[in-house]
Amino acid sequence: MPEISTQHLVLGAGISGLSAAYHLQKAGKEVLIVDKNTQPGGVIQSVEKQGYILDFGANSASMTPRLSEVIEDLGLQEDLQEPTAAAANRYIARDGVLHRVYPSPKFIFGTDLLSRSAKWRLAREPFIGPADARDETVEAFFSRRLGREAFEYLVEPVLGGIYAGVPARMHMASVMPRLIEWEREHGSLFQGMTAARKAGGSGGRQLFSFRKGMQQLPLSIAEKLGDRLLLGQKITKIIATKAGFEVQIEKQGEKQKIRCQQLTWALPASQYALLKHISLQATEALAQIPYVSMGMLFLGFEREQISHSMDGFGFLVPTKESRELAGAIWNSAIFPNRAPEGKALFTLFVGGGRNPFSSQAAAASAAIEAQKQFKSLMGISGDAGFEHFHFWPQAIPQYEMGHPGILAELAAAEAAVEGLRFLGNFRKGVSVGDCVGG
Ligand SMILES: Cc1cc2nc3c(=O)[nH]c(=O)nc-3n(C[C@H](O)[C@H](O)[C@H](O)COP(=O)(O)OP(=O)(O)OC[C@H]3O[C@@H](n4cnc5c(N)ncnc54)[C@H](O)[C@@H]3O)c2cc1C
Repeated sequence: MPEISTQHLVLGAGISGLSAAYHLQKAGKEVLIVDKNTQPGGVIQSVEKQGYILDFGANSASMTPRLSEVIEDLGLQEDLQEPTAAAANRYIARDGVLHRVYPSPKFIFGTDLLSRSAKWRLAREPFIGPADARDETVEAFFSRRLGREAFEYLVEPVLGGIYAGVPARMHMASVMPRLIEWEREHGSLFQGMTAARKAGGSGGRQLFSFRKGMQQLPLSIAEKLGDRLLLGQKITKIIATKAGFEVQIEKQGEKQKIRCQQLTWALPASQYALLKHISLQATEALAQIPYVSMGMLFLGFEREQISHSMDGFGFLVPTKESRELAGAIWNSAIFPNRAPEGKALFTLFVGGGRNPFSSQAAAASAAIEAQKQFKSLMGISGDAGFEHFHFWPQAIPQYEMGHPGILAELAAAEAAVEGLRFLGNFRKGVSVGDCVGG
């Protein structure tokens, strides 16, 4: 079997692995990175079809200092796209109507999204004493602070939009540690938010994408890595050696070995079985991280078929309102070049924790129902002129109640196995910015 040697080997060319390899290359280290896909970027995939630009994974990201540094370094600023001003508007569906939501006391009293009693309960948030939130679920934390209805109609859909998870199982301190700090330090989320705004750090970071979609970022890193990036190579076995590690890869039946001293794992946690000869502790830890499946239905319409003003980013649907349609992004209202002139592009989301699918066919059938609900909410007449369905069997890892223990086990495995480290969206957050680090 042919063999190659390198000092550093990165497994997985999603955005986590690519950023790590790029960083190592820039630091002058000898590095190789491998992925089974023939395209770099992992779940970040942008495809052009009939003049529509579809993002199968992230459609945009929040800017971080580290992302901004990488984008500048790659010379990608010219292709950077900011969303339209209207995209700052967000909507939530209730009783067949889309309600605009915004973080201001005016919203609480002006909106029809919440009942009168829910508004009063929400307004009392600053007067609810703090409690120990370290071992609370997301559902318990927000129901306690904001009341049950505000949790169901504000928090649950928003978290569904980010994690596609089930708040009754999600670990608050792992998902939103900052809000726990707000409660502890300021006694209230409203006061914490006000203080953060005054300090200029309300968390409202600028959203961005690129002219040809989010995949421009991984593609550009891949270009810099050149022949250091080995695509179409499935990792089939990893063993420990005296000098480090030996990784077996396979392309169309042809096997190859890569020897390395330092091994960076940037594969999904669901690939845990590959670690069994290296660290049983890490194998068992990763095996405990659940993933949810998701389906995405891309729809293109003529602008005149749509009666809604589409002045926003899109909308979210609380689980109480629909099991099928979790939300929709108004792609061409955010980045106008996503659809041909005179047309509009949308992405509808189905699945996640609210509706786990056992197969792609089950997801596709939920998408048919979701499309009906979507058209009714948006006041759309006639059929879509463009349709495309994409299914992720394991879309997003879930930070559930045992997550801190899992992370502690991974850190212990890193300490026990010299040269091994773990990266990926199961560790420091699921957003693109979290995966790039910093
Ligand atoms: C539908 C969806 C929408 C999202 N929307 C947003 C958004 O709008 N904004 C945002 O910030 N984030 C969003 N995210 C989250 C974010 O995009 C991901 O968390 C992030 O891109 C994950 O990167 P990663 O490198 O950690 O993992 P991945 O992208 O999963 O990369 C892992 C890589 O490992 C490779 N691999 C797996 N097994 C093997 C093997 N045996 N051999 C070789 N290679 C292997 C895979 O091919 C893949 O390339 C979204 C995610 C999804 C799924």
